[in-house]
Amino acid sequence: MNESPFHAVYRCINACPGEYPLDALLYRCPHCEDLLEVVHDLSALKETPAQSWKQTFEQRCAQLASTYSSGVWSKKEWVHPALREENLVSFREGGTPLVPAARLAQSCGLEHLWVKQCGNSHTGSFKDLGMTVLVSQVKQMMHDGKKIKAVLCASTGDTSAALAAYCAAAQIPAVVLLPANKISPAQLLQPIANGALTLALATDFDGCIQIVQQLAQQPDVYLANSMNSLRLEGQKTVAIEIVQQLNWETPDWVILPGGNLGNVSAAGKGFLMMRDLGLIERLPRLVCAQAEHANPLYESFQNGFREFHSKPAQPTLATAIQIGRPVSYKKAIKVLREFDGLVEQARESELADAAALADRDGLFSCPQTGVALAATLKLAQRGTIKPHDRVVVISTANGLKFVDFKIGYHQSALKEVASRYANRVKMLAPSLEHVNAAIAQFSAQQNI
Ligand SMILES: *Cc1c(COP(=O)(O)O)cnc(C)c1O
Ligand SMILES: [Zn+2]
Repeated sequence: MNESPFHAVYRCINACPGEYPLDALLYRCPHCEDLLEVVHDLSALKETPAQSWKQTFEQRCAQLASTYSSGVWSKKEWVHPALREENLVSFREGGTPLVPAARLAQSCGLEHLWVKQCGNSHTGSFKDLGMTVLVSQVKQMMHDGKKIKAVLCASTGDTSAALAAYCAAAQIPAVVLLPANKISPAQLLQPIANGALTLALATDFDGCIQIVQQLAQQPDVYLANSMNSLRLEGQKTVAIEIVQQLNWETPDWVILPGGNLGNVSAAGKGFLMMRDLGLIERLPRLVCAQAEHANPLYESFQNGFREFHSKPAQPTLATAIQIGRPVSYKKAIKVLREFDGLVEQARESELADAAALADRDGLFSCPQTGVALAATLKLAQRGTIKPHDRVVVISTANGLKFVDFKIGYHQSALKEVASRYANRVKMLAPSLEHVNAAIAQFSAQQNI
C-alpha cells in the first residue's frame, strides 16, 4: 500500500494557480491568503470500479487486527494515499454506529431517523477522524527529517482533546490554547491527562485562533486547526460510512451542527467524492444547524449567502460551536449550494429539550447534537422534511463530556431552558413501602 498509484495535493479554494505537496507546512494560499483544499487525482481512483471500492472498504472494516479497520484508514486511498503504513497514528477511529431513534422519530413525525454516533470514539468526538490524518502526516514529516518542535491548536475543547491523544500516542509534543472557563471540565482534563502543554487564555475561541495563527508562522511548529484542510480528509469519511451503513443508499437528509464549518464542508466532500467515483447516484440535502447565539452562517443563509458577516459569538450551552468567525465559511457555503442545503438555528431551550428527548431513546446527547436534533424537529414540523424522508443526524460528541449540561438540565437549572423532559432524582426514606410506592407510580406513568 505504500507505493501508491494515487495522488493528492493542496490547491487554493479560489483556484489560484499552483499546487503544493501535503507534507508542506502551508495552510493558506501564497497568492490570496485564502484556504487550501486537498484535491485528489480522481482519474486514478476511477480506474477501480465503484463496486470494488465498496468491497475493499467493507473487507478492511472487518479486519479487526489491522490499522485499516479504522473508518478513516479503510479508505486510505481516498484520504491521504502518500502516508506510509508505519506512520499511521490510529485509535481505530470511525466505525461508529448508526442508530435508529424511534421516539424521537415519532415526535418529529418521521418514519426513518438515524443518529450517527461520532461521539463513540477514542476521545469522544468526531475530531478523531481528522486528527488521525493530521498527526500521521506530522509523524511522517518528522520521520523524513523535518524539524517540528510542536503541533498547535486553538480549540473549543474537542480538537485539543483529539490532538493531545494522537500526539501522545506518536510521542509528538502538543500545545493547546483554550478559552479560559468556556469549555467543560472533561474537555479541559483530556489534554492535561495526555501531557499537552495546556494554556487557558482569558479570551474566546476566536481570540485563541488569532494567536495560534501568528504562532504558526514559525517554521518549526505545525498548525492543527481546521484551516489545515488535511483534517477534513479524515472527517469526510463519515459520509462514506453513513452510506455504507445504509447498504450504499444515499439518505435524503444529513443534518449536523456547525461552528467553524469544517465538518459540514467535509461531509459534503465525502458525498461528492462518492458520487464522482460512482458509489452513489444522488446527493442528500445537507443541513447545517447553528446555535442562535452563534449563528453567522444562518444569517448569511437568510440573505441567500450573498453576504457573510462574522460577529462575536454569545455564550451558548453548545460551547463547541460558540464561534462567530468561522474559518471555513466559504467552503461551507460552496458545499451547501451544491447540496441544495439549508441552515437552521436552535435556541437554548430547543437544543436542550431536543437532546433530552433523544436521550429517551437511549442516547446521551451533547448540546451540539441537540442543536442538530432541534433543527431536524423544526424542519419536520414545518414540512420541509417529509414524513417518508430518510434522515441522518450526525451526533458530534459524547454527552459524557458535557455532564454539567446534562445535570443542569435535569435539575431545571439551565438559563433560558424550561427542561420539558427533566427526570428528577427522587429522595426517599429507606423503606420498602416508599420504594414500592415510587415504583408503582413510575410504572403507572409508563402506560400513559
Ligand atoms: C468541532 C465540533 C463541532 C463543529 O464542527 P465545525 O467543523 O467546527 O463546524 C460540533 N460539535 C462538536 C462536538 C465539535 O467538537
Ligand atoms: Zn489563492
